[in-house]
Amino acid sequence: MSLRDAPAGAGAGGEFGTERARMVAEIADMARQTGQETGRPRFADGVMDAMRAVPRHLFVPRERADSAYRNHPLPIGSGQTISQPFIVALTTDLIEPRKHHRVLEIGTGSGYQAAVLAELVHAVDTVEIIEPLAREAAQRLRTLGYHNVSVHVGDGHAGWPARAPYDGIVVTAAASHVPSALVAQLKPGARMVIPVGPQHSTQEFTLVEKRADGGIVTRVVLPVRFVPMTGGS
Ligand code: SAH
Repeated sequence: MSLRDAPAGAGAGGEFGTERARMVAEIADMARQTGQETGRPRFADGVMDAMRAVPRHLFVPRERADSAYRNHPLPIGSGQTISQPFIVALTTDLIEPRKHHRVLEIGTGSGYQAAVLAELVHAVDTVEIIEPLAREAAQRLRTLGYHNVSVHVGDGHAGWPARAPYDGIVVTAAASHVPSALVAQLKPGARMVIPVGPQHSTQEFTLVEKRADGGIVTRVVLPVRFVPMTGGS
């Protein structure tokens, strides 16, 4: 079920429906292949439904629309990229989204990951450091009817304290370390996914879980390559 007021205009049966179905099948295959490593051989049905629902071709530059559903990252302008569909699905699955959740994303980019989350949770706050990207993403999400996403301009190292704590946090840019402000903004029992490691190289996709007693458990999920998290510390 979608929380959107209006259909995005390109549901599963609409434009690029076949490509989107193929993308979802490829994600399922890749989940199986990496299941040993990730601990997630099969993603939740809701996550797959969200991947099937969001019109990814409307989140990439017009001239890239035909490649939008390939299981690859794509350039979105300002030197940034929209993540590979499998990674978006894995990220979403790992935080175990629930309908009542409020989730924070660091690195809005095109707004695609935010839209996938918005299909599944009550509200999404997303923080982008490049103002024009934030503006475009906010406009796009509004046009597509994702009224439960708030786009903010800022440095995600600080999280978004005004609305913390969160039921889940996803970081979609590579960080040198896990920012303590983000850990502080997780509710007990909540999860964060963050690529940690050197810039312009392979990072460790890391799952950070705040236990009910406040203790922190981390687990490395997969090697990944994300664009760098810029700004402060
Ligand atoms: N989630 C995006 C893709 C993210 S690419 C999507 O679905 O399209 C990583 C994004 O993180 C880029 O847009 C980049 O500008 C942004 N970014 C990098 N450092 C940041 C920081 N410190 N705070 C917030 N956003 C940051």
